[in-house]
Amino acid sequence: MSATIRKVSVLGTGVLGSQIAFQTAFHGFEVTAYDINDEALTAAHERFDKLAATYREQVQGAGDGKAETTAAGITLTSDLGEAARDADLIIEAVPEVLSIKQDTYRRLGELAPEHTIFATNSSTLLPSDMKDATGRPDRFLALHFANQVWQFNTAEVMGTEDTDPTVYRAVVEFAEAIGMVPIELHKEKAGYVLNSLLVPFLNSAMALAAGGYAEPKAVDETWRIGTGAPAGPFQILDIVGLTTPYNILVNSGEDGQKLAQWLKSQYIDKGKLGLASGEGFYRYNA
Ligand code: NAD
Repeated sequence: MSATIRKVSVLGTGVLGSQIAFQTAFHGFEVTAYDINDEALTAAHERFDKLAATYREQVQGAGDGKAETTAAGITLTSDLGEAARDADLIIEAVPEVLSIKQDTYRRLGELAPEHTIFATNSSTLLPSDMKDATGRPDRFLALHFANQVWQFNTAEVMGTEDTDPTVYRAVVEFAEAIGMVPIELHKEKAGYVLNSLLVPFLNSAMALAAGGYAEPKAVDETWRIGTGAPAGPFQILDIVGLTTPYNILVNSGEDGQKLAQWLKSQYIDKGKLGLASGEGFYRYNA
């Protein structure tokens, strides 16, 4: 248990927010999860039940009713004031839309006690884009989780120039206390560490295949055999799903747009969207 952080609220109970809330509660913290209306809270309830089943199967120590107790122990609310009250740390996982995030921080800044730390889970926005809206830039930073937090347990910690170093340390300590491996960034960087490595890697792989140099399977084999890695770039792309890289590429420079068109015409337009659709660069059994 972290020394300075005991009560944690998570804003947004979608894909990532529900996982962050569950993982935090599983490690003994008092957790409140906030979403905008009753419909979203019903969906959150279902997500927590599903997570309980997943933890029971995949996470050590989640048996003997612990996963179910964890789900039942999370307080759900659609009242932002209730979520903010008494919270030592608020982790924000609302939609990746700057205006929604800024608006959320403006309201939070007025509702949360002075000592509360705010952390954003944003994947593509920088904390600097939001810090003024918080009204407390010294107590604000990014804490970025990966999808399936119980398994892919990195927590990238990235402050702004205004983040108080003691706040940064407290969040690093908190990340460890909930079973994450904290990855400390010293400066702001779009893509943090993981995507700064992964995105150019995946783009290089696609350029090899789109340019007719080698088949996706051969590229993957080269990477696996040559480095000992368990998966090649096209296997990773299939897991991510082809729509996300397409959306990134289509908004990038000329080379990126060429790759986007290749992805679209050869795969996306043919319904090959990756693992979730049954076929991407590889075919999967249903
Ligand atoms: P999501 O769409 O699954 O969930 C968003 C949740 O926010 C929904 O439950 C929605 O009801 C709620 N919401 C909508 N408007 C809101 C508001 N005004 N205030 C509070 N809640 C509101 O999204 P997600 O995939 O969980 O992503 C959330 C954040 O996490 C984003 O910043 C994203 O970049 C980041 N993230 C996502 C992933 C991922 O793999 N999905 C990984 C790392 C980080």
